[in-house]
Amino acid sequence: MSALATGNVIAPPPDAGAVGEEIHCLAGMLYPICRSITGQGVRDTLDILATCIPLERHSVATGERLFDWSVPKEWTIRDAFIKDCEGRRVVDFAASNLHVLNYSIPVHRRMPLAELKAHIFTLPDQPDLVPYRTSYYAERWGFCMAESRLRRLPEGVYEVCIDAELKDGRLDYGEYLHPGVTGREFLLSAHICHPSLANDNCSGLALLAMIARNLRGRRTRYGYRFLFAPGTIGALAWLSRNENHVPQIDHGLVVSCVGDGGGPTYKRSRRGNAYIDRVMAHLLAHHGAQAIIKDFSPYGYDERQFCSPGFDMPVGLFQHSAFATFPEYHTSADDMTFIHPQHLARAYRTIMDAIEIVEGDWTPLNLLPRGEPQLGRRGLYAALGGDTAGSSAAMAMLWVLNLADGGHSLLDMAERSGLHFKEISAAADLLRKHDLLAPASGSDIPLDQTSSA
Ligand code: ZN
Repeated sequence: MSALATGNVIAPPPDAGAVGEEIHCLAGMLYPICRSITGQGVRDTLDILATCIPLERHSVATGERLFDWSVPKEWTIRDAFIKDCEGRRVVDFAASNLHVLNYSIPVHRRMPLAELKAHIFTLPDQPDLVPYRTSYYAERWGFCMAESRLRRLPEGVYEVCIDAELKDGRLDYGEYLHPGVTGREFLLSAHICHPSLANDNCSGLALLAMIARNLRGRRTRYGYRFLFAPGTIGALAWLSRNENHVPQIDHGLVVSCVGDGGGPTYKRSRRGNAYIDRVMAHLLAHHGAQAIIKDFSPYGYDERQFCSPGFDMPVGLFQHSAFATFPEYHTSADDMTFIHPQHLARAYRTIMDAIEIVEGDWTPLNLLPRGEPQLGRRGLYAALGGDTAGSSAAMAMLWVLNLADGGHSLLDMAERSGLHFKEISAAADLLRKHDLLAPASGSDIPLDQTSSA
């Protein structure tokens, strides 16, 4: 038996291509909107997401206290430009919303180029790209442009205008709960505050919206709570309103940058050994050499808030290329040509596989534990004709029977055997149907197997 192959090719679902196209299309609808941590752009984005799922909308007033923070003023931007002495727009917000320093205070002045340069951000190492810059918590104004364009600007006096407003208003976020039968929850969160950047994070918003939509109508153990909130301050707003709810969340993923061809990358929760950390490590181990697992660090996206010591939630970060590791990151090159349907579909499958594990894990007990049960007599060895898939299925049965002492879950068995969870789960289901296994006390078989129980 030791020579049996343990290869595990998991075929993608037949609709994998279609879902990638759908996510890409939705990301493309979100991409043009000028978002910030507050303002109309966030509301317009929530409106689009609400066409996929019945989103619950929440808002928090400017000035409201959120732990050590308070909700900032609402930002409105109507137009922004730099005009040369002949009145031509040399930098134009209408061409790209990255051109304005996000959250800029208003300005309308004439000034010489030398003075204007103090307010211009470029990327000297990537001279043709426009950087994405913000100034959320310091009142400043500024423009972002390509270094190559700046170098071509002649000396002279320029008219600068940022037609923006910062006033008391509100912070908005959206939430959707797919209810489960146990009352326990899985949190999936994506930041909604970046303007026209496709991978970071139109990709994550669109991916989660499609997962939420496709879970509808499915009976699940866990409730799936989807959160679309501005980075940092939005997560703090949700946490401050849901402190009592936090203990119900057993698993969580923050999702960003899931449309590029890199990774996948998983950053562990602060706990480091949470169930979700094991699930993601298992899936990435079967993904191939490109997969990267990182330990927790207190820098990144909203896992910083969810994993702050006062909450210490079991929430990791899932990405393809890790933030700040790809040259397109936070530049105008992170556009819709940078993300692709097949990579979005790959991210969709990874998260759906994680959901399949939390939905499908259980702890079996071998009902004939003295010696091996005779599988041939039950027709369970029929597939063992030397083909790899059959051998792998037989190995999965032997592992499950051996480890089914009531102290090992299917995920434990998948980790120890090196087989994919799907193979272990299929073997356990088959053995249970042949009355060789039953759930150990305190464990339940998955909901989608209960009809055949
Ligand atoms: Zn970012």
